[in-house]
Amino acid sequence: MLLKVVGSERIVFFCPLCGVAWRAPPAERRLEQVETLQDLAPGGVTLPTSSEALGTGFALAEVAFEDWFSLLEDAVKPLPLSPS
Ligand SMILES: [Zn+2]
Repeated sequence: MLLKVVGSERIVFFCPLCGVAWRAPPAERRLEQVETLQDLAPGGVTLPTSSEALGTGFALAEVAFEDWFSLLEDAVKPLPLSPS
């Protein structure tokens, strides 16, 4: 999954099933780097907007909210409300 680092425009890659995160997508069928979201985004992550996700240029697949939200509930941080 693509996630956006809070306070940055940086996108990181995350597998919610094993909890491994990457700065760049790993090569298919290879695991040469193991980091966590905490390593890559100590301030937390949010979901990228659809235009930010499409802007990465990666081939994306849409997954229904019900199918992924429970896997990410602990990782995704609500954005602080901006003062009005
Ligand atoms: Zn995994």
